[in-house]
Amino acid sequence: MRSIILIAVITAISSFVKTQNMTTMKNNNLSNEQKLIYPFTLPEQRYSYEALEPNIDKMTMDIHFNKHHGAYVTNLNAAIKGSPAEQLSLNDIFENISKLPVAVRNNGGGHYNHSLFWKVISPEGGGVPEGKLHEAIVKDFGSFEKFREEFENAAKTRFGSGWAWLAIDKTGKLFVTSTPNQDNPLMDVADKRGTPILGLDVWEHAYYLKYQNRRPDYITAFWNIVDWKEVGRRYTELVD
Ligand code: MN
Repeated sequence: MRSIILIAVITAISSFVKTQNMTTMKNNNLSNEQKLIYPFTLPEQRYSYEALEPNIDKMTMDIHFNKHHGAYVTNLNAAIKGSPAEQLSLNDIFENISKLPVAVRNNGGGHYNHSLFWKVISPEGGGVPEGKLHEAIVKDFGSFEKFREEFENAAKTRFGSGWAWLAIDKTGKLFVTSTPNQDNPLMDVADKRGTPILGLDVWEHAYYLKYQNRRPDYITAFWNIVDWKEVGRRYTELVD
């Protein structure tokens, strides 16, 4: 009798532990972007508009966040409202973006990309990646300098509006790519597909007030504000 009770107790405990582990794993594997779901809202601001000066000026941050990103959120909600996509995360939507209205592609990408961008830049940014992310960059690019050169090249050569990305493919390998407009590597229309962990907005609205036509200067300044702790956290979340 005692052993039956013991078995019952052990079974109950182990199923409780399993449930706990599953919940933890699920949350760990989902980045904040993967949780983006209708109705969409502007993310919480973690720093003031002037906090990234002199790398990004206050007025650009204010207009970029409230007007540009704000418009993507408003237009995305309007495009999704009443459709089956109300139930899907943006990640799931991007898997089939080629079959959906162009307003979902442009504004869904706009919301996802900017939500990532605000998180991977910060007043405490700069320096170099550490730990596992640094090891992976050395393994996949040869060195941090080589990665930086490839990323800068992707950002500089993107004609017109778009984004440069550091992303991770299904095998766990890092790669650099760029996409036009508000596309991103999660979309089924992307040349190279994967999950972005760092993105740089090279639309003129992201830099024109301060840098005018000097996109390369804006790209150089970007390295002063990249939050490598956050990028590293995203990397670990995806590969662990
Ligand atoms: Mn932008």
